[in-house]
Amino acid sequence: MAKQTSLSTLSFDNRFVENLPADTETDNHRRQVMSACYSFVDPTKVAAPKLVAFSSEVASLLDLSEEACLSDDFTQVFAGNQLLAGMRPHAQCYGGHQFGNWAGQLGDGRAINLGEVVNQQGDHYALQLKGSGATPYSRTADGLAVLRSSVREFLCSEAMFHLGVPTTRALSLVTTGEKVVRDMFYDGRPQAEQGAIVCRVAPSFLRFGSYEIHAARGDVGTLRTLVDFTITTEFPHLGTPSVDVYLNWFAEVCERTADMIVHWMRVGFVHGVMNTDNMSILGLTIDYGPYGWLEDYDPNWTPNTTDASGRRYRFGHQGQVAQWNLFQLANAIYPLIEQAEPLRKILNDYAELYEQKWQTMRTKKLGFNSYNAVTDDALNTELHEVLQLVETDMTIFYRKLADVDCENLHLSDAELLAPLMDAYYAPDALSTADKTRTCNWLRQYQQRVADDGTSNLIRRQRMNEINPKYVLRNYMAQLAIDKAELDDFSLVNELLELLRKPYDEQVDMAHFAVKRPDWARDRAGCSMLSCSS
Ligand code: AMP
Ligand code: MG
Repeated sequence: MAKQTSLSTLSFDNRFVENLPADTETDNHRRQVMSACYSFVDPTKVAAPKLVAFSSEVASLLDLSEEACLSDDFTQVFAGNQLLAGMRPHAQCYGGHQFGNWAGQLGDGRAINLGEVVNQQGDHYALQLKGSGATPYSRTADGLAVLRSSVREFLCSEAMFHLGVPTTRALSLVTTGEKVVRDMFYDGRPQAEQGAIVCRVAPSFLRFGSYEIHAARGDVGTLRTLVDFTITTEFPHLGTPSVDVYLNWFAEVCERTADMIVHWMRVGFVHGVMNTDNMSILGLTIDYGPYGWLEDYDPNWTPNTTDASGRRYRFGHQGQVAQWNLFQLANAIYPLIEQAEPLRKILNDYAELYEQKWQTMRTKKLGFNSYNAVTDDALNTELHEVLQLVETDMTIFYRKLADVDCENLHLSDAELLAPLMDAYYAPDALSTADKTRTCNWLRQYQQRVADDGTSNLIRRQRMNEINPKYVLRNYMAQLAIDKAELDDFSLVNELLELLRKPYDEQVDMAHFAVKRPDWARDRAGCSMLSCSS
């Protein structure tokens, strides 16, 4: 077993601050920061921090023992009250396109990077406090985060990791003992909520917007320094930076992004705010704000009320929006390449790559051996329609589809449909015509599986490894928040535990593998979220 470290022996190697240009001003006031990648800034101390939860898996990435995580020092450090030797707190400078428009300088307005831990394997992990007070990038906001949004980020980061989706991680969640005022729906009803801080962990928190800001300012020198640093530290297999390496790097960012979105589509995750400042250069899911999980299969659904009119970031559009974002990144790095054609080609290839990856993923979701060009496009297109005939829970549908008997091709309609009935929000809404159409699809599906020669047993195993039984349904997070706001953190920890094994049956927890309850249909936090957090 690897040696476990205490907090005081964590070792830091702060490549980001040591290799990249710093803001020359060190005063913590809001400003435009030029020719720099970050500003030094300390977390703001908080009154009465309390540990709500920590992720033991993330702790072990850092070689931290459980005992270390339960110590008072841990709570103080990850509330921003205490710095460890070797930490060099800073906020990063970035810009971004928000809802399609260039927004200028954004930056870490409420995130403070503490430093980069090197674990015993030599891996670097940056630690970042979210909600730890104002920085030079806070613009008109306060730099703080509330408990509800912090619970959502903490639980979802870890849930996504266990689902096999590339993501930033979360080490800890603490409450600050201080109040934060938020107008949740921007409707003039501000409330004092509990303050909280999540410590996020990732090899790097660089975003597309980290590059865009320097390009937008015509600062090619800083842009080049940052791109070269990124390649050297995070993409070393690409070799010494050169024009060709820049292109290969961009192609790899495109591929990682495609992989990430395909996973989102697989599990029914809707990010909600795919602005370019929320797109990680490593292809990790980053910035858990008004995200949501698709319950009723509706490709047009978005959880984000701020996006309700345009639905730019709706479920079914995420692959295309990612391409739009990659186009902005291509524009940003163009001054280092000065050839549009190869960049354009990589962007076009992205569209094809994404389609291919999604096709392969759909093949797996249905339990087939491999993609069949003759049958599968029609099957997928019809499934997409069948899922929208009536309100159908996507997660339950795929999980129950694995239970449909494909070894007996002579089942009645009722027998075929029986395993799927749990997936319908109002089974009575299914008309005779809907049932017939669904059964027609199911019979083609059975035939397709039979042609593959796959047994029920093997198919179920395959499908249940990829179609989760448990996801962090919006109402589940809300239940945990409701309790947490009363200082009861039991459900936060229970859900953390449940979501460690999202593909396992966990029969005792089956009450969390059900359709969204009716009370959650229109409740704030369950079906509607805003950027206010
Ligand atoms: P987001 O929509 O959370 O990705 O945030 C967009 C930008 O606004 C980023 O630069 C954030 O750092 C900043 N921001 C969001 N909330 C706050 C806040 N409460 N205080 C300061 N900056 C914030
Ligand atoms: Mg953001």
